[in-house]
Amino acid sequence: MPVERSLLMIPGPVEISPAVLAATSIPPPSHLAADFMERFGRALERMRAVWRADEAAQPYILAGSGTLAMDMAVANVVDPGERVVVVNTGYFSDRVAEMLRRRGADVVEVGAAPGSVPALSDVAAALPGARALFATHVDTSTGVRVDARALAGAAREAGALSVFDGVCATAAERFEMGAWGADVYLTASQKAIGLPAGLALLVASERALAARDALSTPPPLSVDWHAWTPIMRAYAERRPSYFATPATTLVPALDVGLGELLAEGMEAVFARHQRVGDGIRAAWATLGLELLPESGWAANALSAVRYPAGVGPELLGEISARGVICAGGLHPALKTAYFRVGHMGYATTRPEWLARAVRAVSEALAACGHRADVEGAVAALERSLEG
Ligand code: PMP
Repeated sequence: MPVERSLLMIPGPVEISPAVLAATSIPPPSHLAADFMERFGRALERMRAVWRADEAAQPYILAGSGTLAMDMAVANVVDPGERVVVVNTGYFSDRVAEMLRRRGADVVEVGAAPGSVPALSDVAAALPGARALFATHVDTSTGVRVDARALAGAAREAGALSVFDGVCATAAERFEMGAWGADVYLTASQKAIGLPAGLALLVASERALAARDALSTPPPLSVDWHAWTPIMRAYAERRPSYFATPATTLVPALDVGLGELLAEGMEAVFARHQRVGDGIRAAWATLGLELLPESGWAANALSAVRYPAGVGPELLGEISARGVICAGGLHPALKTAYFRVGHMGYATTRPEWLARAVRAVSEALAACGHRADVEGAVAALERSLEG
């Protein structure tokens, strides 16, 4: 009998759809081939729609991971010596703060205890005089989602740009770049966008592009919008161009993945992640588990779940022995106090996979000595998904 492969339920990379998987299995195209230019151009248009960005906003598709997109944002909107505010909700906010310090910015961090978010009034108080606000839409280390709409509004009011790291959020959590007046929204391909790892994706508003034009210290060439914008515009017009080789296998797959999202409709995509987030949280509650995020701040893309008394990181091995891969803690202060389960992208269209993940976690808890109502947890998920 064939062994069923393990289900990847970490907060990225995640399971991908059959159509995206098939799209990655082609002989490598030339970056100048007509069909490739068509796919690249369409992927750019589709990004704008998934991001809900204005026509004037500029999408970028680069070979790289989310960290590259973060560096691109930092280096194109901030000059050395400028003040920036970082809303710090965990590990990836620490990372962007470090990038900004290396850029020579005067970094003001407004943070909160792990699992919480800083008060909007504290963020607003730090904003006057700042060039930009940086926030992590969903911090993968804590499972916390910030109120991106309110933060973008506060930044606008203070005359600052707003930059959001959506690596663990884009296409799972509602984001309306144009309507909310956000200036940069960036992600990577391996999460809710639904591709393998390898693409850095970013959309910049007109205001953000103007900030690059006004810089006195140019960004490193490899991430400079002045180098990349003509390339993206050429692909948008299906014209050949070259600055650095794009990931020619992944771009057509991106076109497919974004096409799937838009065929479903972004409202339906956000509602699906909300429904699945609610269902998974109902299962955790049945098992007597507590979330790391404080009430109301839990993201839909993943769960950060505290180990119950008497259980520790050995739980992960028990889960994986049951054919499901989950992740350990990531926040340096709490690493061994919690574990994480990703529930974003294609897997959220497969109720039987979600049930398999909940069952594996429940049985693993029981194997670790926690009193776990396995059938009750699965039933709570299924009830919630049906409701
Ligand atoms: N920001 C967030 C919120 C992330 O979750 C990650 C990846 N886990 C990154 C940035 C970095 O992305 P990458 O690993 O693709 O460089």
